[in-house]
Amino acid sequence: MLKIFICPKCFNYRIVSRKPDAICFHCGATLHNSEIDYIAYSDMSEEERANYKQKFIKRMKMYNEKINSELKEHEVNK
Ligand SMILES: [Zn+2]
Repeated sequence: MLKIFICPKCFNYRIVSRKPDAICFHCGATLHNSEIDYIAYSDMSEEERANYKQKFIKRMKMYNEKINSELKEHEVNK
């Protein structure tokens, strides 16, 4: 089954078959499994793909901020 992966750094989509740990062609980052399968992806319009990408970017930013604030707290508690 083809799966759609998305890069957490440069946010390019990539269609991946089988490989559990796909790498981005553009920047070499480990891709994130978008949980969208290829059939759903090919049914999406350009607009829907762009919307999904925007939501993903937001999620990644929130996630990174959470990690960073946890790291800071950890340093403070040393
Ligand atoms: Zn990338």
